[in-house]
Amino acid sequence: MKVDKIIFATGNADKMKEIRMILDDLGLEIQSMKEAGVAVEIDENGKTFEENAMIKASAIAQKLRKDGVQAIVLADDSGLEIDYLNREPGIYSARYMGEDTPYAVKNANLIQRLEGVPDEKRTARFVCAIAAVFPDGRKFTTRATIEGRIGYEERGKYGFGYDPIFYLPEYDKYSAELTPEEKNCISHRGKALEEMKKVLRQAAE
Ligand code: IMP
Repeated sequence: MKVDKIIFATGNADKMKEIRMILDDLGLEIQSMKEAGVAVEIDENGKTFEENAMIKASAIAQKLRKDGVQAIVLADDSGLEIDYLNREPGIYSARYMGEDTPYAVKNANLIQRLEGVPDEKRTARFVCAIAAVFPDGRKFTTRATIEGRIGYEERGKYGFGYDPIFYLPEYDKYSAELTPEEKNCISHRGKALEEMKKVLRQAAE
């Protein structure tokens, strides 16, 4: 099967930058939905990261099939699980306190909800699931995590979202203190995409 294009189902420019960097060496053209000119209203009503990623990828793939476009569709769903908050915000990470609420406000709220909670109970992880749908209908998912702790204040100038409050004990740094290159090597999205790259290479054989 000859496929020379990947369309990644995200409207998030920050994520797109990370994704391009990681998938670059596949040698395929990589487009965002906007660049591909696809717009689909998607109801993320799954109960897991994997389900939501597959809902997004399948909806776009269906639209492309109708339009006669041959491309692999990838979609991701990711979020932050805080153990002390019963894994909140989880699959609702983007929607937590409202989609348009600035992250400075969301981050301050989460720190406040953990007030007085000691280090060992502040464990958290970023989770990322990637779904792929091929033009012939084959479907795959991968998943990866990065473990850390919720800090006591915002730190760092890189990244996005919850990066400024996500402390990585192994590196003694907050996620927002890592350069994009450093983050891609160890992040949930970086690792899930690396796994997906293996799947894509195998599937294309
Ligand atoms: P999604 O676009 O539905 O996958 O939502 C993911 C949300 O989870 C983002 O909007 C962020 O709030 C959060 N998130 C996921 N990955 C990261 C990351 O690498 N850094 C910071 N926040 C993240």
